[in-house]
Amino acid sequence: MESCNCIDPQWPADELLMRYQYISDFFIALAYFSIPLELIYFVKKSAVFPYRWVLVQFGAFIVLCGATHLINLWTFTIHSRTVAVVMTIAKILTAVVSCATALMLVHIIPDLLSAKTREMFLKNKAAELDREVGLIRTQEETGRHVRMLTHEIRSTLDRHTILKTTLVELGRTLGLEECALWMPTRTGLELQLSYTLRQQNPVGYTVPIHHPVINQVFSSNRAVIISPNCPVARLRPHTGKYIAGSVVAVRVPLLHLSNFQIYDWPEVSTRNYALMVLMIPSDSARQWHVHELELVEVVADQVAVALSHAAILEESMRARDLLMEQNIALDLARREAETAIRARNDFLAVMNHEMRTPMHAIIALSSLLQETELTSEQRLMVETILKSSNLLATLINDVLDLSRLEDGSFQLEAATFNLHSLFREVLNLIKPVASVKKLSLTLHLASDLPVYTIGDEKRLMQTMLNVVGNAVKFSKEGSISITAFVAKPESFRDIRTPDFLPVPSDGYFYLRVQVKDSGSGINPQDIPTLFTKFAQNQSPAAKSSAGNGLGLAISKRFVNLMEGDIWIESEGIGKGCTVTFVVKLGIPDRSNEFKLPFAPKVPVNHGSANFAGLKVLVMDDNGVSRTATKGLLVHLGCDVTSVSSSEECLRAVPAEHKVIFMDVSTGLDGYELVVRVKERFPKRQDRPLIVALTGNTSKVTKENCMRVGMDGLILKPVSVDKMRGVLSELLERGVLFETV
Ligand code: ADP
Repeated sequence: MESCNCIDPQWPADELLMRYQYISDFFIALAYFSIPLELIYFVKKSAVFPYRWVLVQFGAFIVLCGATHLINLWTFTIHSRTVAVVMTIAKILTAVVSCATALMLVHIIPDLLSAKTREMFLKNKAAELDREVGLIRTQEETGRHVRMLTHEIRSTLDRHTILKTTLVELGRTLGLEECALWMPTRTGLELQLSYTLRQQNPVGYTVPIHHPVINQVFSSNRAVIISPNCPVARLRPHTGKYIAGSVVAVRVPLLHLSNFQIYDWPEVSTRNYALMVLMIPSDSARQWHVHELELVEVVADQVAVALSHAAILEESMRARDLLMEQNIALDLARREAETAIRARNDFLAVMNHEMRTPMHAIIALSSLLQETELTSEQRLMVETILKSSNLLATLINDVLDLSRLEDGSFQLEAATFNLHSLFREVLNLIKPVASVKKLSLTLHLASDLPVYTIGDEKRLMQTMLNVVGNAVKFSKEGSISITAFVAKPESFRDIRTPDFLPVPSDGYFYLRVQVKDSGSGINPQDIPTLFTKFAQNQSPAAKSSAGNGLGLAISKRFVNLMEGDIWIESEGIGKGCTVTFVVKLGIPDRSNEFKLPFAPKVPVNHGSANFAGLKVLVMDDNGVSRTATKGLLVHLGCDVTSVSSSEECLRAVPAEHKVIFMDVSTGLDGYELVVRVKERFPKRQDRPLIVALTGNTSKVTKENCMRVGMDGLILKPVSVDKMRGVLSELLERGVLFETV
């Protein structure tokens, strides 16, 4: 910037120089004046106006400089020539530079101003960003607090802990003076102060639920700032000096509370909300921030969710406790039932044994009586006694089988037997009764039916006798036909056997037996119940028959154990019926078919086999039973010695006895005796055959007999016929174990 030169007035001015100076001064002034105008113009145009005062100052300075030059126009005096020349050149240069500067500024100022504007804009932006970053940080902070809080809340599923933790954590996070929860009361008409931050056990203040402030808070899902004088904001007893700070309230939904039936919380019918009240310290000038309110809302929701989880958990724990109690009761009941079953089975076993002994006497003696000279009337009476005794013996067997089947201790035997003989034997046993009733009995065995099979012969026989026996029992006239054939598994896709799934496998076949009668028939609606214990057909014929309703129940269990099924078909009362059963049997390997140890049967009739002079020793502690057995043997011609104890037995043995029948039910005594006898006769051929004759049907007894090396086991009761068969078998084979 060019400064103003004062002209020496005493020097004469050259005309031309003066003119140049005059013009220059004018242009300098012009340039000077234009600059503030330019500045004002651009400043007005631009959005921002930085350095306002500096610019005003600068403008004034320029205007004043310009004014001095302008005033110069009227104050020229003559200078020395040199000075005038220098002044002129200086002024011309100043004018040129000033004008050029003014012109330059026209271009530069907008740029400068816009740069400044940008800078200002950027600064504003940066400040704004700073604010936003701050906000984000606050939100992050809030989020972190919420996470911490909800973690704390969720880490426990106990309702009281959740609520207490919420208050403590909220108090810490928000720096609260007090924080409390108002829970609805049992009636649902009031809110009760239940949890507070500072008081351990808040005394139960209550506030009516229909208070306008509560209504207002309950009707919004946002946190609401309420008056510190409102009753729900009064969290402490009034002391007079106490001034409450700013207070916020928010509702806490008690989710599905009524569904969970929390017993110590009421089922609030109108509003399922609790009220959370939060107060900031009264002495601080702090006010609630938006993000704090948001945090309170989020926490209220989280508490609601955690509470609902806690409610579910409480309910399931209650259910679990209940279940555990029930389980204990069930376990107790099961154990009691097991004890009862054991007691029943023990009782049955004892009864079985105890009944077999007198039965033995009755059957043995009446069968002996039958073989004596009798009048026809006496014979009829003896036959009736025998028939009834046999019935009783069968009943005892059935009851025992059933109890074994029920407690699961029943096991099938698996031995090779002659299937064809079994059918013929059944026929022989049934024929006499059928012929009395004048019923025709036919047996048809399919040509492909194997002769030898593997299975439980005794149980199959029992099933057959039950089914065929029923056919005879429930038919007054007509015919009974028995058909047996090998069934193909495909043939069971029968609607009558929906539960029966045959599984064909190598070495096995399915035997299908059909027993058809023309008897009393069965009402179809009675059929499903016939296989349950003590079931009886409602038909008059069936009612009049003296059945016990056990036969079919046992048969069904037997065939089920043999992986088969049994069913009855009848078209109605008086139309006869057909019983069909299927069992799975093994096919013996042909190469050792005849080498297999057959389970020997007790031969029923050996005609008039004579055992005259056969020395037999009978040991039985039961006098009646001993007499009965002795009677049978004497009748068959044997030379019998009877003793009642093992000592007596040992004393008597040396006298060349061929067979010893001993009752092993007296305990270990009997087994010891066997060992002693075997010691006395080291050679097998020298010693007598030692056979158990017992009413004890337990498997253990049979196993014990075999273990100590006895030669056989015969079950009481024994008739003359049976004894005859037993002796023949023993003398022939040297061994005879009856199936228990
Ligand atoms: P029980 O014959 O000893 O009564 P079951 O269990 O063998 O016991 O039979 C149950 C019932 O089924 C019989 O009482 C009878 O009513 C009926 N029932 C069985 N078989 C026949 C049949 N062939 N004809 C008519 N009714 C039968």
